[in-house]
Amino acid sequence: MNSIRHEGIGMTSLRTRERLVNRLIEQGIQRIDVLEAIRTTPRHLFIDEALAHRAYEDVALPIGFNQTISQPYIVARMTEAILNAAPDDAVILEIGTGCGYQTAILAGSVKHVYSIERIRPLLERTRKRLRELKIRNVSVKCGDGNLGWPQHAPYDCIITTCAASEVPPALLEQLKEGGVLVIPVGGRDQQELKLYRKTDGEISAETLEAVRFVPLLGGVEN
Ligand code: SAH
Repeated sequence: MNSIRHEGIGMTSLRTRERLVNRLIEQGIQRIDVLEAIRTTPRHLFIDEALAHRAYEDVALPIGFNQTISQPYIVARMTEAILNAAPDDAVILEIGTGCGYQTAILAGSVKHVYSIERIRPLLERTRKRLRELKIRNVSVKCGDGNLGWPQHAPYDCIITTCAASEVPPALLEQLKEGGVLVIPVGGRDQQELKLYRKTDGEISAETLEAVRFVPLLGGVEN
């Protein structure tokens, strides 16, 4: 990642970044910290150079390994739902690190993000990217997110960026009292973005909107 690439595209894309932020505001994103994170996070550095010119369009894009970087609106929506429920010094668990864009957006507003990705080569590339971007309050590991990350539990909030046919019980178990789990739930082609809240040990559910994510799979891929 050289500085020319960093500055060149960053400079020329200032206007397109503003356009993206304005679009998110029109779509109902309200939190200043989320909008600011979208404006300042170099999304073009999370995708292949050949697609970098599309980085500030509000679309999902391929990142290799049959996976995608989520649409900025959905990243903003999920981040807003998490931050609305999280304390200032929140510790977050993320399932589905992918290219690390959602991770980076969250990391700016919380104390620490633990993030799990099942595809090892994708994760190693992302680990390097997060290091180069000097994002230090993130720990990543290769593993099966269905199991959560019990060593650091319980978490203030949990975010899953792949679609589950059913909510993995381990994630609800590893959620703190008062915390929320934001997760797409449904079949391959369409899912609902759900928000589960743990109150007095009971789980309540809310539907945020219709979404389409890549599936939550089992096991790891080396
Ligand atoms: N968060 C990314 C989106 C990544 S796509 C972004 O910011 O754009 C979802 C990711 O979830 C993929 O990389 C996929 O490999 C991963 N995934 C799917 N099932 C998983 C599991 N059981 N555990 C961990 N990661 C998983």
